[in-house]
Amino acid sequence: MKKIQMVDLKGQYNDIKDVINPSIQEVIENTSFINGPKVHEFQKNLEQYLGVKHVIPCANGTDALQIAMMGLGLKPGDEVITADFTFAATVEVIALLQLTPVLVDVNEADFNINIEAIKKAITPKTKAIVPVHLFGQCANMEAIMEIAEAHNLFVIEDNAQAIGASYTYKNGSKAKAGTIGHVGSTSFFPSKNLGCYGDGGAIFTNDDDLAHTIRGIVNHGMYERYHHDVVGVNSRLDSIQAAVLDVKLPLLDHYNKERQNAAKKYSKAFEGVETIITPEISNDCSEDCETGCDCHVFHQYTLRIKGIDRDALVKHLNANNIPCGVYYPIPLHSQKAYKDARYNEEDFKVTNQLVKEVISLPMHTELDDEQIEYITLTIIKFING
Ligand SMILES: *Cc1c(COP(=O)(O)O)cnc(C)c1O
Repeated sequence: MKKIQMVDLKGQYNDIKDVINPSIQEVIENTSFINGPKVHEFQKNLEQYLGVKHVIPCANGTDALQIAMMGLGLKPGDEVITADFTFAATVEVIALLQLTPVLVDVNEADFNINIEAIKKAITPKTKAIVPVHLFGQCANMEAIMEIAEAHNLFVIEDNAQAIGASYTYKNGSKAKAGTIGHVGSTSFFPSKNLGCYGDGGAIFTNDDDLAHTIRGIVNHGMYERYHHDVVGVNSRLDSIQAAVLDVKLPLLDHYNKERQNAAKKYSKAFEGVETIITPEISNDCSEDCETGCDCHVFHQYTLRIKGIDRDALVKHLNANNIPCGVYYPIPLHSQKAYKDARYNEEDFKVTNQLVKEVISLPMHTELDDEQIEYITLTIIKFING
């Protein structure tokens, strides 16, 4: 059996190196390292793939979130609602911009931001909501957009984990994750569903004016060379990273399919195991999720473990050469940097529970049946004692 890895970047590279290497080589030969033609080409291709008017590439997914918030003109003291159960980048940029993060609880079923909790958290100071499409499926965007409209709020989608996923509206129409809110962001960190070979990120919007503002912000606030109209940052996607991404973008649907296939096999193996809750596809899509849809692109395959010692299971898996992850072990509202006297533990019941139950299994495009069988049998044997 091949060595099991949490992500297998090498295996994936081996399959595409004949195309990736010349694409990188071309950038080196042209010395078009910054804002070269590859960046523009990738931008156009991603716009087309997502069906969004504007993609603005930038240096990483954290910058993408920050720049999106700067572009919307959010001001110190504005309150921004986001999920308590996510990676810290989301709350970090809110705090960095001196906005006030307002963390709210998530759903047990899909780990995404809870609609009632958002409603409860709205005050006259609320200016934006940042849903995070966690582990590969969209938050309830239709409800979020309705709330936003009613309260005149911006919606910034953190789509670092769900690129390529689709959201289905009640009327059956679909939109790609990250293109539904006023602005969306993503990350091309190597282990993400569309990963480059270093850092990378992008911002999406259908709003022409906002796109223009953001294009200036990523480049030192310049709209005309050496004229700095607003305070900006230096956040660019390297041409070499764009050269990698442009080769991988046409493979994204295939890669996501490979992840879904692995997820299906995992879930099938755990059927009937009472102490394991397998991930649920909560987006109500018109297609048959059993046979394949793009509701969930499984950035992570995350189980909830009930009534058995999760940490002992982690140890057992590691001892059997099975890597796994706990995403996330600590709620953001309990992190030293983001504690706030206004928070009430009662409001974070689900997150407080999830941090004790979750375990993410190896998930990537190169998992084979033998590995999946070994992983699932090892877990089931542990549970059955
Ligand atoms: C990875 C990630 C980010 C940050 O992306 P970087 O490119 O690493 O800066 C932000 N939000 C979420 C939910 C992520 O998973």
